[in-house]
Amino acid sequence: MILLVTGDFNNIGKSSYFGECIYNELKNQYRDIDFYNGGQLYILDQIINNISKYKTIIWMPNIDNSIDKYLPKIKVLNKKCLLVTSKRNDNDKYSTFEIIERMFKNHSNLCIVINKQKEYNFKILDTLGNIWINTDTISGMSLMLIKLINYISNLSRVESVNVNFNSNINIEPKFLDIIHSYGDIFKTKINGVINKERFLGNISTRCMFGFPSYKLNDMIFVSQRNINKETLDSTGFVPVQLLEDKVFFSGFNKPSVDTAVQIRLYNYYKNVNYIIHGHIYTDSGYITDKYIPCGYVEEFNEIINIIPDNNASNFSVNLIGHGCLILSKNLDYFNSIKFISRNFPEYMTLSTIR
Ligand SMILES: [Zn+2]
Repeated sequence: MILLVTGDFNNIGKSSYFGECIYNELKNQYRDIDFYNGGQLYILDQIINNISKYKTIIWMPNIDNSIDKYLPKIKVLNKKCLLVTSKRNDNDKYSTFEIIERMFKNHSNLCIVINKQKEYNFKILDTLGNIWINTDTISGMSLMLIKLINYISNLSRVESVNVNFNSNINIEPKFLDIIHSYGDIFKTKINGVINKERFLGNISTRCMFGFPSYKLNDMIFVSQRNINKETLDSTGFVPVQLLEDKVFFSGFNKPSVDTAVQIRLYNYYKNVNYIIHGHIYTDSGYITDKYIPCGYVEEFNEIINIIPDNNASNFSVNLIGHGCLILSKNLDYFNSIKFISRNFPEYMTLSTIR
């Protein structure tokens, strides 16, 4: 079920022409849409009370900033929804980074950026800095939005479950050094303005052969969710296992959103002992075909399609519109990696979501 909220919400309320246009495109595609276009604020309270029933939420009401308590509640009350927000950006008042920073704050997945100079211009931006369309027609933007919604809502995430298993976390200092210096590179090659915790990517390590915790049933340690990788030490890692298609983690802290993908990679590539994932590219010749945002398990298939040899190790793959994964057998491999800045924003083509 889809929710579309547009228009002015205040004492009087006013409908929006753009909202009407988006709705006209959506209703050709979806049967179950709730559409609210302007009104009094109590209507928004009612919508928020029922927010958990929607799979996709396109939230673009015009509300006085001082009373907008609604948007921050959406992902709190409905964690799994695909959230599309909007931002007026007349005369390019805000940079791409500033818009993305706001998207992170609201946990929004996609943002419709509306820019009026002489004419209106519409863009769709995601949190990885990709622009999906740049058009002067609202229907063109809406059609692309529908394609993105259909594509992203069909990707799958894996649930993580907290359990207790004994494990010693003892990360090699040399790997920690690499993580810290990579953190610096990831930040400078993309830009420090952005919310660092989420943008630095995720780092995981598997116990090497002969390492004391190896005996713990091939335990994998992944960095904690949203932890600052610049100051990360052993305490910032979480032991994880993949069983019955769920991620089991031990301790109080959830593992990074990338965990399910990384565990699958370790299970497939038996010689890989370390993985680092970041949101810039390397000079690797490998690049995936399909756009997969952070944390969706389809990324695994994209990678093994490119490198099917399950004895492979010491290689890196670029994930289109996303970043890179470095899979290594030994730590020295990390010193040979050459990074390339990602364009920001990066323009994406439809072929990556077909
Ligand atoms: Zn990522």
